[in-house]
Amino acid sequence: MKHLLLGDEAIAQGAIDAGLSGVYAYPGTPSTEITEYIQLSERRKGYEAKGRIFCQWATNEKTAMEGALGMSYMGKRALVCMKHVGMNVCADAFMNAAITGVNGGLVVVAADDPSMHSSQNEQDSRFYAKFAMIPCLEPSNQQEAYDMMHYAFDLSESLRTPILLRVTTRMAHSRAVVETIDTPREQNTLAAPENTNHFILLPAFARKNYAELVEAQAYFVQTSDESQYNTYTKGSNPKKAIVTTGIAYNYLMEVIGERREANGESILKITQYPLPEALIEQMVADGAEEILVMEEGQPVVEELLRGLVPSTVAVKGRLTGDLPRMGELTPDSVRDALLPNSLIAISPKSVPELVVGRPPALCQGCGHRDMYAALNEVAAEHEGAKIFGDIGCYTLGALSPFHAIHACVEMGASITMAKGAADAGQFPSFAVIGDSTFTHSGMTGLLDCVNSKANVVVLISDNLTTGMTGGQDSAGTGKLDAICLGLGVEPDHVRVVVPLPKHMEEIKQVLREEVAYNGTSVVIARRECIQTLKRHLKAKK
Ligand code: SF4
Repeated sequence: MKHLLLGDEAIAQGAIDAGLSGVYAYPGTPSTEITEYIQLSERRKGYEAKGRIFCQWATNEKTAMEGALGMSYMGKRALVCMKHVGMNVCADAFMNAAITGVNGGLVVVAADDPSMHSSQNEQDSRFYAKFAMIPCLEPSNQQEAYDMMHYAFDLSESLRTPILLRVTTRMAHSRAVVETIDTPREQNTLAAPENTNHFILLPAFARKNYAELVEAQAYFVQTSDESQYNTYTKGSNPKKAIVTTGIAYNYLMEVIGERREANGESILKITQYPLPEALIEQMVADGAEEILVMEEGQPVVEELLRGLVPSTVAVKGRLTGDLPRMGELTPDSVRDALLPNSLIAISPKSVPELVVGRPPALCQGCGHRDMYAALNEVAAEHEGAKIFGDIGCYTLGALSPFHAIHACVEMGASITMAKGAADAGQFPSFAVIGDSTFTHSGMTGLLDCVNSKANVVVLISDNLTTGMTGGQDSAGTGKLDAICLGLGVEPDHVRVVVPLPKHMEEIKQVLREEVAYNGTSVVIARRECIQTLKRHLKAKK
């Protein structure tokens, strides 16, 4: 059957058709649609259907990774999805899952965001695969993304290791026709591992597992060399070679098109790591003197190649300035890099500036607006007041018209940075964090505040959802007050307000009282995101 699918949807459908039993994820652009697609397909099946797939948003990426490892432990196929910075949060579980190995197939999808369309950095998740010493797949188009999910689960079970599948924004969020299989694979039956010692990382067992992982590296390289997803084509002018990875291969094909033969470069397409060393050796043996590396993200392959090819071979790419050092690749940047190397010229195309810049802003009527309006007024009563922000729609409070936030680094950092500032003598020190971000990574920071009686005011802007990524369930909905009390915040200093213009005076008064309190306070500003509210009201009609 043929479907028009986003890259994310192709990954999801591929996982479903490969016999998936559970998906564990925390929402984050550009990965969110994978889990949403699986949730939707489960709802269509009906709740009584056999062979259901577990799919519920996790509290954060670490709990997601651990949940998936538990499902894999029981012999089932499990999928973990996150955006690239989520890899930092799940890194402990991810690195150690490489040491335990897997029982049922375990695939981790990391969606990178070069150019930082909706992220705080453009780190490259391929480093994590290398760090953990496990194979990585990087599809070059949507069909490959679908096909690779079957391959990834099979590979994971045959190598007994997690597999990292890395995509980037354009792959995740662009559509293409994808041909799917007619009959999905059955789910694995429940079967705990025969040797549970593999999953007990006491040093004596862990050393043995790690030695096995080190020993497996040569086989992982051989698997890459033999993979159907890595191809080498010798050109008519093999002195010049192009190495492409992931979606860069698509861009190259778009630019070179029918001129490929005329240009004559050899082309090595890499979509499975570790690097296929035999194919690289072949490229060099065929006479490659100059290799241009095209890869989305950081210059991972470009750096590694320098250690694999003779020093007489020039390796070019992002590090040499032949391609932009940062940001996404585009067909145009690929074309520009090819021009000096091409045997025939490809006429440059100009990219018309079709889209007028639209700075992001909080929705009109959003509760975050009323929360910031009150907070700004109270903060202005204290010279030098500092407000530490966090990751969510409310990060836009840093921009016009509020200009309210003085720092925003990563999930949960608002509370701990406000604490650190207060520890240093700052007064008043505010933290602003959303409900979903609070349960993701803020709760432990609040416990630190309570334990040292830090003089901070924490505002939890509770919109009852994960608003920034489109309104997914938030793990703490209905439980935030109890969580704060359970963490030890004094009951008199867990306050709840409704952020509406008509309550402005009351909110300011609550904030003033909590600023005056010498200790840790939490003010929960609770009003549903108006986007999810609209959807809920529509669904009720
Ligand atoms: S999506 Fe919801 S939470 Fe985000 S700005 Fe809009 S109304 Fe506010």
